[in-house]
Amino acid sequence: MNTYRNSFIHTIKEAPNDAEVISHQLMIRSGMIRKVASGIYSILPLGQRVFSKLNTIIREEMNQIGAVECDMPHMVPSELWKTSGRWNAYGKELLRITDRHDREFCFGPTHEEVITDLVSFYTKSYKQLPVFLYQIQTKFRDEVRPRFGLMRGREFLMKDAYSFHESRASLDDCYHQSKAAYRAIFTRCGLQFVEANADSGAIGGDESVEFLVVAESGEDEVLVCESAGYAANVEAAPCQQNQFNFETSVHEVPAFKVVDTPKVRTIDEVVKFFDSPDVTPATVLKSILVMTNDSPIMCCLAGDKPLNETKLTKVLGAPFRFATDDEVRAHCGASPGFIGPVGLPSNIPIYLDYSLAQSLTYVCGANQNDRHLTSVSIVRDVKLATTNSVMVDIRNAQAGDVYESPTGDQRGTYTSQRGIEVGHVFKLGTKYSHAMGACFTNQQGKLTDFEMGCYGIGVGRTIAAAIEQSHDEHGIIWPEELAPYDALIINLTPKDPHVCDAVQTVHDFLVGHGLDVIVDDRADSPGVKFKDADLIGIPRHIIVGKHGLSSNHIELKHRRTGEKVMVPFDSLDTILN
Ligand code: ATP
Ligand code: MG
Repeated sequence: MNTYRNSFIHTIKEAPNDAEVISHQLMIRSGMIRKVASGIYSILPLGQRVFSKLNTIIREEMNQIGAVECDMPHMVPSELWKTSGRWNAYGKELLRITDRHDREFCFGPTHEEVITDLVSFYTKSYKQLPVFLYQIQTKFRDEVRPRFGLMRGREFLMKDAYSFHESRASLDDCYHQSKAAYRAIFTRCGLQFVEANADSGAIGGDESVEFLVVAESGEDEVLVCESAGYAANVEAAPCQQNQFNFETSVHEVPAFKVVDTPKVRTIDEVVKFFDSPDVTPATVLKSILVMTNDSPIMCCLAGDKPLNETKLTKVLGAPFRFATDDEVRAHCGASPGFIGPVGLPSNIPIYLDYSLAQSLTYVCGANQNDRHLTSVSIVRDVKLATTNSVMVDIRNAQAGDVYESPTGDQRGTYTSQRGIEVGHVFKLGTKYSHAMGACFTNQQGKLTDFEMGCYGIGVGRTIAAAIEQSHDEHGIIWPEELAPYDALIINLTPKDPHVCDAVQTVHDFLVGHGLDVIVDDRADSPGVKFKDADLIGIPRHIIVGKHGLSSNHIELKHRRTGEKVMVPFDSLDTILN
């Protein structure tokens, strides 16, 4: 018989101070996890049961679509990561380790390299494709800010799957099946989730979709256009180009003026300095100099719009960095805070954000220290005046912005929701196979790079997300399929042999019907037991005590609804419903 005592269940009254979100607090308090170091946790038996339940759901759904389970090592030699180019590119999140022979390894944060090497070793012909493998394995990422318990850990369990194909069509097929499997997994977990288009990487037009559990505590912002049935991570949500009024912009705007603005650098300082209803963050130009392949590019946005670095990388087709103060001075002839697109050396391309049609005129830096220009018309003074300016989408979309489908037939406005990214499916294309020289002989007898897909689920994060969505002030309310146990039997008087016999009978009956059952037979007061029962959140509580048994009854409480019913001892079937 599983009991609290022999199952090492230890509840805690107070959550630690660093537990900011409810799922983290409840996991610690219910005795599911215990912190060992920042972002590193022990999973206690109660937590482990939830992990097993979720792992089973994941395995069933992955096997269902033909994926096959394997297990790759945690320690990966640097050589493999060098062949893909990621040994240098990955940065500090990659935990690097040196063994006693001074050989370099990393603790795998993801396994594209290992699997590409593995699959290409055995797979030489199109006849052996597709290959679809997955593992459920601990990953390590040295996150800058581990927090929220299992939600953003450094060591965490991930289901990662990888597929290899002879053609794009075959990859598309697997990608769609994986999305369907993810829907099935998260639905079985009782989660309310959205599928959002995500950033598909700097280079190449590959697709990617994130599965996000809707929750206020989510670190991601998702923009949803209900009427068009479209959702995207804020990093990827497209913005429409506002239309300029050319006539007015060119003919009716007075010529721009140079104004002395000593030490006035930031948008806020400019607004304060001019102190006029016409000068607001929306009408001050934000000019940012970035460097890509050591060449400068100026990006301009309305001052109230945040730059989206992911979109900019994509537009540039290459990684960028912000110019240093010295580079700004060298290229623009003025310090940061006083630069702008008017009168810029003609070798510097100007990227104008789509939002810039929102105002007829702007205040912007004059490319002279301590000076700004007023009455700058983007159309007249920048867009028509320079040949190297382009209109681009480089800002974050916001709630209220218009979304239009690529075909133009679906249109609506965005609303904003917060979400927790629990899964990510990605068409990698030939990025890794090409870099690593992983190829096969195609039907025409030609050596070809594999088309690849990858598909991840954060197991611990999904569990945390389930708690974020399903709890009350008393504790966790487990969705049926994730619950560590199906039923909890509370023995109110463990000293009474008659009650213990009844508990045993109910226990055996439920176990005989395939339920996972645990018994609280501690000597504590009923109040303590009920509190812990609510905290741990098992769906059915069966309360067995002297009082009920005197009329041959036990009590059944449904954790989710709080509904309580007296069940006659001879109709225990009721509990199964
Ligand atoms: P994030 O943007 O949240 O850092 P990611 O894009 O880096 O996530 P992927 O590389 O796509 O994540 O990893 C696949 C899945 O692994 C994610 O969808 C998420 O559920 C999970 N995951 C990623 N990082 C962590 C982490 N630090 N702790 C727990 N789970 C994580
Ligand atoms: Mg990450």
